[in-house]
Amino acid sequence: MHAITTQEKIQQTVSELHKNKRLVGFVPTMGALHHGHQALIDFALEQCDHVVVSIFVNPTQFNNQDDFDQYPRSLERDLQFLQPYGDKVSVYAPSVEDIYADQVTATSYDFGGLEREMEGRYRPGHFEGVGTVLNRLFRIVKPDKAFFGEKDFQQLQIVRKLVTIENLPVEIIGAPIYRQADGLAMSSRNQRLSYEQLQKAPLIFQTLQQVQEDFGTKNVRALNEMVQARFDGVEGFDLEYFEIARESDLKTISRKQNKEKYRAFIAVFAGEVRLIDNIALN
Ligand code: AMP
Repeated sequence: MHAITTQEKIQQTVSELHKNKRLVGFVPTMGALHHGHQALIDFALEQCDHVVVSIFVNPTQFNNQDDFDQYPRSLERDLQFLQPYGDKVSVYAPSVEDIYADQVTATSYDFGGLEREMEGRYRPGHFEGVGTVLNRLFRIVKPDKAFFGEKDFQQLQIVRKLVTIENLPVEIIGAPIYRQADGLAMSSRNQRLSYEQLQKAPLIFQTLQQVQEDFGTKNVRALNEMVQARFDGVEGFDLEYFEIARESDLKTISRKQNKEKYRAFIAVFAGEVRLIDNIALN
């Protein structure tokens, strides 16, 4: 497996596929590929003839320079990881210049308030960077469908909004969260966890499952308190936020209403490593 590194080359590849009436899927990633990415690619291949995987650590979506510097990069290993897909998958691994030329800045977007909730509150500017890079990638790759993990549920909702704002002819499809056997959602950041942190990290999903179980019988305030109490006792783990929000607009709720769909969202610092997860509640 080799990586395509220029816009021209990936455009040629996709246009050739389209000429041959192939349905092209797209899975944007930041690399350091793991089984969560693999599940997403497999999911995409069930619905498309060919999948373009992009590997690009996007500078404009990091609000913290240190996080950007520390983000794992392992292109050679990633290419080996994708080897078994053979010619079903193409890899587009552009340079920063190929995507941004000499203007490494984010466009400002109004995602109708979605960008100000949760991740947006704690990572200012993050979704403008995400919107900027995905708009560029969609215009370069021109896929028929693009696949995003529900692991980053807020991102998925924002991408749906982005394609309507930019009027992009691509179908956005969400895929289930892939977890380790102990429940921890797979993430490139898990690589940075110590052995002790890995032992404790399943608490995140266990807590979400408890919330899901209690959602029918307990009120939102009691659930918030339960979650905070669970993390209060865990050394080295800091709860950044826990919220129960409507799926449609991601607004936090203090009271449940009939007919709405809800999710619980969580962000936890394990030492310096920030982990996020979420679960559907009804
Ligand atoms: P990333 O490389 O972390 O930016 O992720 C690239 C894509 O893979 C995003 O759409 C993520 O939501 C998705 N993804 C990452 N981890 C998982 C997972 N554990 N299960 C499902 N999708 C995932």
